[in-house]
Amino acid sequence: MQRVALYPGSFDPVTYGHVDVIRAASRLCDRLVVAIGLHPGKTPMFTAEQRAEMIEKVCAAEAAEQGCEIAVVTFDGLAVEAARKNGATLILRGLRDSGDLDYEMQMAGMNGVMAPDVQTVFLPASPQVRHITATLVRQIAKMGGDVSAFAPPLVVEALRAKAAKH
Ligand code: ADP
Repeated sequence: MQRVALYPGSFDPVTYGHVDVIRAASRLCDRLVVAIGLHPGKTPMFTAEQRAEMIEKVCAAEAAEQGCEIAVVTFDGLAVEAARKNGATLILRGLRDSGDLDYEMQMAGMNGVMAPDVQTVFLPASPQVRHITATLVRQIAKMGGDVSAFAPPLVVEALRAKAAKH
């Protein structure tokens, strides 16, 4: 049986932290569905299409080497519904610190009640990337800072292009 996992998040933009989770995830499942959450009312820095293209370019080749197929989708409702819709029995979340843990435990608990057929799996951040958050990457880039230690080159380039426009 094919093991399918859903990795939901904002990915605005994809960082080395996300890449670390995707790398670990690709060893755990046959198919990884990276699901970009659309939040009406929130204005992202990059459109869902731009975010999806960056994830595909950064991650597909590496995942394929691990024998894992990657798909990138968008969703605008519950992660458990997105999991079911995409045939995933696992929801993957990365854990950086106790702040992540508290929130993620609540979400995993409530998701588990709503969808007992979908198992949440936490993946610990690698020490080299555990400080990275997409929110700070956006803020630093907007202020003209160097984010090349936090995100892949094509993302850094896209952030530079955005900053130059403003
Ligand atoms: P962020 O919290 O950085 O804005 P997302 O909302 O896109 O990013 O996060 C999606 C998922 O990726 C969450 O499970 C989050 O904990 C995980 N994640 C994000 N950055 C990292 C990191 N540096 N290490 C491990 N997991 C991470």
